[in-house]
Amino acid sequence: MDFFPIFLQINGKHCVVIGGGEVAARKTNLLLQAGADVSVIAPELGNTLARLAAENAIDYQPTRFSSHHLDRAVVVIAATDDAAVNQEVSHAAQQRNIPVNVVDNPALCSFIMPSVIDRSPIMVAVSSGGSSPVLARLLRARLETLIPSAYSRLAQLTHRFRNTVKQHFAVPSRRRLFWEKILQGNVAELVFSGQDDKAAELLQAQLAAEASGDAPRGEVYLVGGGPGNPDLLTFRALRLMQQADVIVYDHLVSPEVLALTRRDAERIYVGKERDHHAMHQENINELLVNLAQSGKRVVRLKGGDPFIFGRGGEEIETLSSHQVNFQVVPGITAAAGVAAYAGIPLTHRDYAQSCVFVTGHLKDGSVNLDWEGIARANQTIVIYMGLLGLPVLCEELVKHGLSSTTPAAIIQQGTTPNQRVIIGTLETLPTVAKRAQMKPPTLIIVGEVVRLHDKLAWFMPEEQSAAAGLPDLVRPE
Ligand code: SAH
Repeated sequence: MDFFPIFLQINGKHCVVIGGGEVAARKTNLLLQAGADVSVIAPELGNTLARLAAENAIDYQPTRFSSHHLDRAVVVIAATDDAAVNQEVSHAAQQRNIPVNVVDNPALCSFIMPSVIDRSPIMVAVSSGGSSPVLARLLRARLETLIPSAYSRLAQLTHRFRNTVKQHFAVPSRRRLFWEKILQGNVAELVFSGQDDKAAELLQAQLAAEASGDAPRGEVYLVGGGPGNPDLLTFRALRLMQQADVIVYDHLVSPEVLALTRRDAERIYVGKERDHHAMHQENINELLVNLAQSGKRVVRLKGGDPFIFGRGGEEIETLSSHQVNFQVVPGITAAAGVAAYAGIPLTHRDYAQSCVFVTGHLKDGSVNLDWEGIARANQTIVIYMGLLGLPVLCEELVKHGLSSTTPAAIIQQGTTPNQRVIIGTLETLPTVAKRAQMKPPTLIIVGEVVRLHDKLAWFMPEEQSAAAGLPDLVRPE
């Protein structure tokens, strides 16, 4: 962090702007909006400031800057086109420890001003720390469209009821739960549609109902965290991850995804790398039930999609039999995410009209699959959990009718900066994968579509670009 972000209370305080032009006028307006007493120091004024001076909105001193103008000032802004004056202001202010901003001259500033989205009392400030004001402005424009203007009134309503709600709920977590419900439910919707009085009535009614009713009931959200790249989360996943009290996650959830969960949420790792079960499935099911029954909002965060080789079904069956409320949030499954980032379309008019997802998990050294159904022409096969069984898998596919020259790819940590793609054939893939020392998680894709990788690969993290230069990769003809 190069700058420490703070919001300053300057209501009724003395602020000084040096400069009389339009830039100075913009800064003056901002200070006035925050309720400051503004003095403007400049030999002459442009139109906007002249108008403000005529209206007595500012105290205008028609003179050149001198350091005594800073007496009593809490904030100083220099916006002149005279480098020497700007320098002098910065020096004088810093000597007196008064925060100073010199427009467009970061070296002379002790504070910088962010781009703001004003939904007072809600304020969003965006800064690039001076490294790219344009980027900060673009980001601001985006946020402007995301944050409804009614947030201002919503925050005012919240403020009105803050103390009442505090008195109703002594326990902070219950209070937070109540507010989250209000701010995401009908009360907020009423405010958004301009019915503030009705919103206040409803809020009051819900408060009464909550206070007299049952203890809050927990809930479990079974959330698909996608294949590892945090950009591939859904909005819904992100929203729930930022609300939950507890995050129960397993090893496929990447640190980058986990970092997006609520900061003070409890995080429980339940493992399950092959042969390293941090917790058995029954215990996980039980844990979810217990957490929910103690009133917690739980996100059960899984890699990819929870219903694809994720045992998500089993977990919610247990929840359902204990009458625990739950919701399921789909995620981008490894097949979809990894194939996209490897530039391998899973279906293609010319090569594959169907696609199957199978697990290559070994049981007693063999893989028990419907080989006839899988080893078909014009069908792409995506194999999850197949690294260990790779030699067996390739052998069985050839035994059941696929050509040994069928193209096949193995992709490690797809969609992430560590993605590696190795291409071979059913005959060569086990050897090249071993030579490349592939490590889980890996996804295997078999079929003619793999040929398209050469042409369609677009995602080239550093590791992969380096690997692409290796001369000994065996490629399909
Ligand atoms: N529910 C998950 C799959 C869980 S099974 C989903 O929908 O994706 C775990 C297997 O998923 C791993 O062994 C690997 O085969 C695959 N996998 C998950 N993420 C992956 C990634 N980023 N790159 C490659 N394979 C991945």
